[in-house]
Amino acid sequence: MNLFDTHVHVDFLSAGGADPAAVFERAVQAGVRRILAVGGAPDSDQAACEAARRFPLVAGVTLGFNRDHAHQAGDTSGLVHDMQTLEHAIRSAEAEGVRVAGVGEIGIDLHYHPDTAERQAAWLEAQLELALKLGKPAVVHTREADRVLLEVLGRHAARPGQPVAGPGVIHSFTGDRLLAGKLLDLGWHISFSGIVTFRNADPLRQVAAYVPEDRLLIETDTPFLAPVPVRGQANEPAFVVHIANLLAQVRGVAAEHLAAVTTRNACRLFGIESGHA
Ligand SMILES: [Zn+2]
Repeated sequence: MNLFDTHVHVDFLSAGGADPAAVFERAVQAGVRRILAVGGAPDSDQAACEAARRFPLVAGVTLGFNRDHAHQAGDTSGLVHDMQTLEHAIRSAEAEGVRVAGVGEIGIDLHYHPDTAERQAAWLEAQLELALKLGKPAVVHTREADRVLLEVLGRHAARPGQPVAGPGVIHSFTGDRLLAGKLLDLGWHISFSGIVTFRNADPLRQVAAYVPEDRLLIETDTPFLAPVPVRGQANEPAFVVHIANLLAQVRGVAAEHLAAVTTRNACRLFGIESGHA
């Protein structure tokens, strides 16, 4: 297998007491060849960069301000300063040899924070602008925010400066087929996490069968959302194999094929060497 886990929170991983070296060794044994370490706040951004410097398995990082940050900000007065801070962090990381593969994770969550939709949208939009300016894809979280999300992403469709492979990925997708279709039309990739393996996820499995092969990514969202049959354990990148197996079954292809195409897609989107691995 040649697997690429496109969404790993390395800060939470070590905060939970796990030894990243052992976790990454188990990932390699399971066929994982690349990991994207995602940030979303200054601390987690730094942890992602550290992991990239220390472990060759970490093929790249994403840096950004997540929806919790926007929610807690109080008002939008800090937005411009945040964007300067983020751009500086990205440029410094790259100057130190860390591959910053995208801006993220960013996004909107109206399940937990319905009262701050406008502020979350403001941070999302400003970071999409920064991603365009830097020619990088974005990693976007969305939950129960279809209308606002589509408004913001719609304003960013087909803008100059966008990476050739598209504006980015909607990670741990849990929306319906209608939303998936609109996002695909806007050029986005769609990534499935362990949620797609859950017993009650038949509708999501149908969406997973419908996404075109060249827009499909897979991820664990470590340490959250461990897939069936390891549900309830702390999640880790090795378990991305269960997501690959499930998606292969749903789409009627071999698991090796599913792994190879999702790895190729992720390498293309994030500008990472695909090699032979
Ligand atoms: Zn995440």
